[in-house]
Amino acid sequence: MALRSVTNMDGVVDPEKGIFVEMEGVMEVRFMSGDDEILERQDMYNFQAENRVIPADFCHKNMETGEQALFFCLVCDCELKSIIPLKSHVEGAKHIRKAMAYKQRTLGCEPEPVNQPKKKKLVAPKARIDISKSLRERLEEYEGPIVGLEHIKEFADPRDKTAPLMYNCLLDGCKSAWGNSDDMFNHVKKEKHIRNYFRCMFPDDHRVNSQNKNDLFKKAMEFCVEQNIMQASARHYDEIISCFDAKEYREIATRPMDWSEKRHKFADRRGGGGGNNNPNMTPLGYKDRGLFNEAKWKDFKAPSLQEVVDDLAACVGGEAANIEKMLADGVEDEIVLMEIDLSLDLIEYDLENHGKHSKLIEEDHTAKRKLLSIKERIEKRQQSIQPTQAAISPPQQDLTSSQQRQLERTTATEVFKNHVQVQVRDIAEKILKGKAANDMDDIITKVVNDKIMPSEIQRFTKLEQKWREFKYTDKIRDRVTKFATTYLNTKYKAKP
Ligand SMILES: [Zn+2]
Ligand SMILES: [Zn+2]
Repeated sequence: MALRSVTNMDGVVDPEKGIFVEMEGVMEVRFMSGDDEILERQDMYNFQAENRVIPADFCHKNMETGEQALFFCLVCDCELKSIIPLKSHVEGAKHIRKAMAYKQRTLGCEPEPVNQPKKKKLVAPKARIDISKSLRERLEEYEGPIVGLEHIKEFADPRDKTAPLMYNCLLDGCKSAWGNSDDMFNHVKKEKHIRNYFRCMFPDDHRVNSQNKNDLFKKAMEFCVEQNIMQASARHYDEIISCFDAKEYREIATRPMDWSEKRHKFADRRGGGGGNNNPNMTPLGYKDRGLFNEAKWKDFKAPSLQEVVDDLAACVGGEAANIEKMLADGVEDEIVLMEIDLSLDLIEYDLENHGKHSKLIEEDHTAKRKLLSIKERIEKRQQSIQPTQAAISPPQQDLTSSQQRQLERTTATEVFKNHVQVQVRDIAEKILKGKAANDMDDIITKVVNDKIMPSEIQRFTKLEQKWREFKYTDKIRDRVTKFATTYLNTKYKAKP
């Protein structure tokens, strides 16, 4: 697949062999005091040459002094507190792109004279972040457009009130966004989340796929003004989904740092025990050997800028073909779409960062066009299979009051339906254990669209309230749970 070819670009970085970086300035080892001050730092490039084997307990905290060693990725600006996440981090697509961009900047555009002493890259220590705050508390101090809080799930540890809250964004395309309150705070502000939110709200408005950061922020701003949620104090924080389940909390709190929806799904598909119940989702096929391969390292030469660009271009050029192959192999739409989104993200990254290399940019544009058209094809096919609701029109500048009401209704209904879907899926996964994913999806869609939504909409209409009051309350949640449980049990439960 596309990602593998990026990873194997030149076979230099190989965590299994103890090679984590191919040059200075990408990553460093930090030795921290008990108060989180940096006592000492060493560039990873030198560190890996000196330490052929990193002891398994290298990052363990010294219980007496509180001192701890950790790895800090300078190009991604993130900490890695143990060797396993470190290994997966350096093989992750995001890191590879950033490390290559850094290499280009250093080797290509601003060559450093060989004999000059190396410039030490200074990194301002990250401001201390208080993760004991909740997402809500973080957001209350932030003015700016925030959309889709109803898609954020908050996990609290019922057995330990002091444990940090964890979060996961449940929007399609965002599910790899998870972490503590700070991670989620940074996620909901960003354009990726905004884009996925509008994709979910207005699935027929394909403009969002090509809108840039500024367009998206403007759109989010207008949307928030319309919905009366522009001010920090006016947002509907109670729409954040709360979860107090010990098992779910443990699952999310112990995920490896590079957990992603995609990897999780692939692990599930292969039946390799990487599913919900297995918190240990280290990359497939990975073995902790941790040895430094001197012979391999000795011959290492950094690739030239041209080689890097050619490699990237070849890789980008092949993405559409890879996707077509996935389709031909009968891979589920959802996974193909995710792969397309991932490729599109990488292409965007190229376009933003590699503007100087016309060949690469050309490949990027061609690949982007192809990917978008494949995506449209899949989405059209899906729509023709299950026409759900009437087409939803995107928000417009001048809405008449009836259009405004319609928009409000559509918005509220979609949000409501999403809650129902999450809830029904939870229940279905327990009752219909063992059913194929496709069948399960069909059943969930049917129960939600044909049974629950019509009856809830009817109930609400009778109340004669404004559509923005159409909320998924605890009472409704109980009703949905009861209905779905009974319905699925009587109608679909597999015979023993
Ligand atoms: Zn990194
Ligand atoms: Zn999101």
